[in-house]
Amino acid sequence: MKLFFIILFLSFATVYGAPSLEKVSVKLQWADQFQFAGYYVAKERGFYQNAGLDVTLQKFDPKKLAVDEVMEGRSTYGIGRSSLLIDRIQGKNIVALAAIFQSSPFILLSQKSADIQTPRDLIGKRVMMTEDFQDSISVRAMLNSQDVRMGQIKFLQHSYNPMDIVNGKTDVMASYISNEPYILKEKGIEVNAINPEAYGFDFYSDILFTSESEVRDHPKRVRAFVDATLKGWEYAFEHIPETAQLIRERYNGQNKSLESLIYEGQVLKELAYRGNQPLGAITVDKFRRISDIYRVMGLPSNEKRLEGFVYDDAAHQSLLMNVDERSFLHTNTIRYTSTFAWPPFNFRSDTDPERFQGIAVDIWKLIVARTDMHTSFIPSPTWGGVLEAIKSKNADITLGTSISGDKEPYAIFSKPYASFPNVIVTDKKIDFLPGLEALENKRVAIGQGYSIIDTVNMKYPLIKIVEVEDTREGLKLLSAGRVDAVIDILPVVAYLINSGHYMDLKISGTTEFDFDVRMMIRNDYPQLKSIVDKAIDSISVAERQKIFNRYVAITYENRIDYDWVYGIGFAAMFIISIFMYRQFEMGKYNKKLLYMATTDPLTKLSNRMHLDEKLVEFHQYYQRTHRTYSVIMIDLDFFKRINDTYGHLVGDKTLVKLSQILRKSIRDIDIIGRWGGEEFMIICPDTDSEGAYKVAEKIQEAINMCEFPHIHTLSCSFGISECNEGDRIENVVGRADNALYRAKEEGRNRIIVQR
Ligand code: GH3
Ligand code: MG
Ligand code: MG
Repeated sequence: MKLFFIILFLSFATVYGAPSLEKVSVKLQWADQFQFAGYYVAKERGFYQNAGLDVTLQKFDPKKLAVDEVMEGRSTYGIGRSSLLIDRIQGKNIVALAAIFQSSPFILLSQKSADIQTPRDLIGKRVMMTEDFQDSISVRAMLNSQDVRMGQIKFLQHSYNPMDIVNGKTDVMASYISNEPYILKEKGIEVNAINPEAYGFDFYSDILFTSESEVRDHPKRVRAFVDATLKGWEYAFEHIPETAQLIRERYNGQNKSLESLIYEGQVLKELAYRGNQPLGAITVDKFRRISDIYRVMGLPSNEKRLEGFVYDDAAHQSLLMNVDERSFLHTNTIRYTSTFAWPPFNFRSDTDPERFQGIAVDIWKLIVARTDMHTSFIPSPTWGGVLEAIKSKNADITLGTSISGDKEPYAIFSKPYASFPNVIVTDKKIDFLPGLEALENKRVAIGQGYSIIDTVNMKYPLIKIVEVEDTREGLKLLSAGRVDAVIDILPVVAYLINSGHYMDLKISGTTEFDFDVRMMIRNDYPQLKSIVDKAIDSISVAERQKIFNRYVAITYENRIDYDWVYGIGFAAMFIISIFMYRQFEMGKYNKKLLYMATTDPLTKLSNRMHLDEKLVEFHQYYQRTHRTYSVIMIDLDFFKRINDTYGHLVGDKTLVKLSQILRKSIRDIDIIGRWGGEEFMIICPDTDSEGAYKVAEKIQEAINMCEFPHIHTLSCSFGISECNEGDRIENVVGRADNALYRAKEEGRNRIIVQR
């Protein structure tokens, strides 16, 4: 029974025992107004409480400067101006957490009738400044730049009563553009304002700060306080009238009108978001510029003291995440899913199967570290399982894939974090493939579901794609001669070829299709996408390269040949690209050699050697299949006369012109070449002498129609024969030659067939 009560008590305790809130305080630097709306909202709407904080808003007291209150431990947090930097330089260990206003609302206000419009108009005038306003660096910098010395102005203690510029107690008063001008305008008083920003002195204002010890001893609390405060500010700026109402009801020591609070909110919102910065953005760079101005003005300046001045929570600060993104990270555990089967992107180490590693895995680790993300891993045996998990929202993100239309209904994609060419793997005997068109009518293995399938299909419908389980499977089929090629991205095939010891395979060419590797995210998590994108942006080229090298280097680990790679320190990726480039260049060179070896230089038609080769090829084909071929011999009529009359140059031009006509008149399957001098040969595969006769007729007609330069008309004689049972090549060519001779005999410009 006793035990029962204890259990009952314990369970009640867990249900009702609210976690105790941490008590902290923030010192406001002015009387209640919209200037502190974010703090009021964070408190009133429970943002602080949700963050585990019980926050006391300490009222403004002109005798208690926020810097002293924080440094002496009477306030946890304070709000200050850019002059906090001076305090820092003078030895106070202040840390700036967030800048609420990217530009200062600070102005020097006077009654319009006093006609004070420029800094020089201030000479000899009375100016009300607060104690820290007197330090306010923007005023001093502005006066300095306009050649006004501080001694030329009579500074008075601030009365905090804007009416004092009207009733003659002062000429000028330090004010906020968001505040006093409106209050006076409501009373029908017209004013002038001098704004240091207009003179190029643009500083942060309302900087939330704390002490170094607070950051060191309570890092989580600091983060939570800053985030909840910024959330409060965001809400305040999005709901200005509602917030103005809240201030009027609960924080209105100044008895401001609702309209003046709304006006203040609108002006401050503009200052808070100026320059399209995320709310609260604060950078060391901007303080460095401020510090430069101090130095120019002879104020203390110390580069060393800048170190550690700006809150450097790298995870959040360097990525400049907005409130939405931060609260997303606070409230969500990101479930990432992946297979172990995609080396070198995501796979298990051979030596240590517990280790999940790869390019995608290491990029992901960087992202997680940089964003302070809480994660849990959902392993998937297959890629289909990964897609299913994202689709059903049982997982939030997967580490590496490409954009494709079929995924778009349920997923969104990060920026690419790597890009690789899709390459072609073939048997080592294949010399070089200039591109995918070389694979037309060939069997090409690609892993099923890979997006490159559609891309290739679309542009090269003649390629016979064989969908295989994955690229490893494709390489096995290729090695066994059951497909002609495999396509996948460079690091994947480089890894597989080497780790699978496919000594008979090699990368023979690249495709024009690159693969952009991205993270894929469930489509209702746009915040996660923007967080991941920011993290990807923050990864430097060197960091990326280091990761790539780590895995592409592994691909050669087992191969002694490549040991020197490490010795010289080359990146393996670089080696591959050089290797491929060399192959490409060699391919180009070989192509050129081949061209030179088979082409007649004058007419650019096939030369005699190539014609001989082709005769052998077609003759062998005839012997295997009994499908005949025909030979057409062509000789120009009275060519000697042309040379004699117009010279050899015109003779040459005539040959060139004729060869163009010949090339245009033949069919794709026919081979045309220069047999020698002014004699040409056409070989017509799969064609009997009647078919060849038609080809010759077409040529004859084209020549007759053509206007040749200088010589005007030209004719040719043709001799034709086809290959018959028992023929040798010499018989076929000999009969064609005889036929040509007969054509000449019979008067030229005619076609004779000899069977
Ligand atoms: P036909 O064939 O009608 O009997 O008279 P033909 O004048 O054409 O006689 P033949 O075929 O015997 O003469 C071939 C001439 O073609 C010899 C040579 O001057 C000329 N020739 C051969 N090759 C070239 C060449 O590359 N350039 C030029 N300009 N002339 C060439
Ligand atoms: Mg001749
Ligand atoms: Mg001739």
